[in-house]
Amino acid sequence: MENHENCIFCKIVAGIIPCQKVYEDDEVFGFKDINPAAPIHFLLIPKRHITTLEADAPLDAQLLGRMMALAPRLAVEQGCRPGREGGFRLSLNNGADGGQEVYHTHLHVMGGPRPWNK
Ligand code: AMP
Ligand code: ZN
Repeated sequence: MENHENCIFCKIVAGIIPCQKVYEDDEVFGFKDINPAAPIHFLLIPKRHITTLEADAPLDAQLLGRMMALAPRLAVEQGCRPGREGGFRLSLNNGADGGQEVYHTHLHVMGGPRPWNK
């Protein structure tokens, strides 16, 4: 597995930097955001170091789809209210103009009662 030594999220996957893990399988890792923008805020990342959606080794549609498909179950596990009255927000900041700060692609999952911080 590609593991970039200077990548904070690769270090989290490798257990070098601690995190509050919410999910792990062969390809995907999930952990709570250290600076939550909502009462519930966690990140889903590919274990493989993929910088952006248009990177040389892009996030393939199947893996991206799996990450999105995991979100509803994990959101409820983390305390989001299920169904239409509850729900969550997914966001993926891609590139500088997209507001990306960590260049290891990640899907934000945010939920919980409003108001949110951002
Ligand atoms: P983005 O602007 O989409 O690149 O967001 C990066 C996110 O990573 C931010 O919401 C940060 O709070 C979060 N983050 C940065 N470092 C850590 C860390 N060590 N553990 C958990 N979340 C982090
Ligand atoms: Zn990485």
